[in-house]
Amino acid sequence: MKKIIVFLYLTNNKKAKKYLSYFKEQLKDFDLKTFEELKKDELERCKVAIVLDSTKEQLQSFPNLIWVQSVKAGVEKLIEQLNGSQVQISRLIDNQLSYTMANTVLAWVYCIQKNIYAYKIQQNNSIWNEIEEQENEDTNIAILGLGELGLKSANKLLENDFKISAWARSKKDVKNIKMYYGDDGLDEILTHADIVVCLLPLSKSTRNIISKDKINLMKKGSAFINFARGAIVDYEAIELSINNGQIKHAVLDVFNTEPLDKNSTLWANEKISILPHVSAITNLKTASKISSDNVNKYYNEGKFPSFINKELGY
Ligand code: NAP
Repeated sequence: MKKIIVFLYLTNNKKAKKYLSYFKEQLKDFDLKTFEELKKDELERCKVAIVLDSTKEQLQSFPNLIWVQSVKAGVEKLIEQLNGSQVQISRLIDNQLSYTMANTVLAWVYCIQKNIYAYKIQQNNSIWNEIEEQENEDTNIAILGLGELGLKSANKLLENDFKISAWARSKKDVKNIKMYYGDDGLDEILTHADIVVCLLPLSKSTRNIISKDKINLMKKGSAFINFARGAIVDYEAIELSINNGQIKHAVLDVFNTEPLDKNSTLWANEKISILPHVSAITNLKTASKISSDNVNKYYNEGKFPSFINKELGY
């Protein structure tokens, strides 16, 4: 009898059908089912779930689930839904995703450093005015979170001669990157940066970590980019700092509630660039291949993929 693998998604997710077709191709030896297709005995036989999106109720329906493969890098929702259960979580680790994020970070850093956003505002007001441009080697960029995405982004910026510092949890020695740790380290890195790029996971210890007090430490005329999760940053404080001239521009790709509320004041602020959670769009082909390889390895070789630390939250 073929082993059951379930693919969990929410019906409003436009990518689900395509994902499902890729998984069907890559998991031919398995009986791949959607949640709705599962009969009671199949729910009981299912040990592995591949998750695009899920509900807590769906996850609780599998009495023998051992691990889930997320097709996303950020797994804070899964951690919350699996709170108190023994089920392990494998997150997506995909070079293609890191490469996409690194290119997006570089593009927006240049947008700020070359004053592209500011020239657009000038154009809207028919203003012909040269804005002073800082050299790359004089531009301090702080990367908050030097993991899969942060490290690739930092290296891409280093290739472009920017000055890089980074903030992480555990000690590391990375060539040409000045490291900072702990609460004092966060204060220090924020004080020195011309551009802050947030690439932290959302966890108990990072929720609202970029608070009003931290934002107030940022250099006058600096810029802030959040490509991680909305709940890490106090956007009210970001808006306030923009309006009082302390921060010159913010690029926000992620929000506490997505889509961003139509009535949000962030939309109309010309010094804020709003993106609809697109800084690193998942490549469905590579993500489904990596996820399928993990499932195949588990069943064919008895090898688990690496699991996140649920206590740390990433
Ligand atoms: P990751 O590999 O898990 O790296 C996380 C980094 O953050 C690590 O360097 C870690 O430090 C650091 N960190 C975690 N908690 C910390 C704390 N309390 N204090 C200091 N540093 C801390 O994650 P990733 O793959 O780079 O992804 C980061 C996040 O990006 C994801 O969780 C997701 O939310 C977001 N994301 C967004 C998009 C998008 O399109 N907007 C796409 C993909 C992912 P250590 O190295 O010391 O462990």
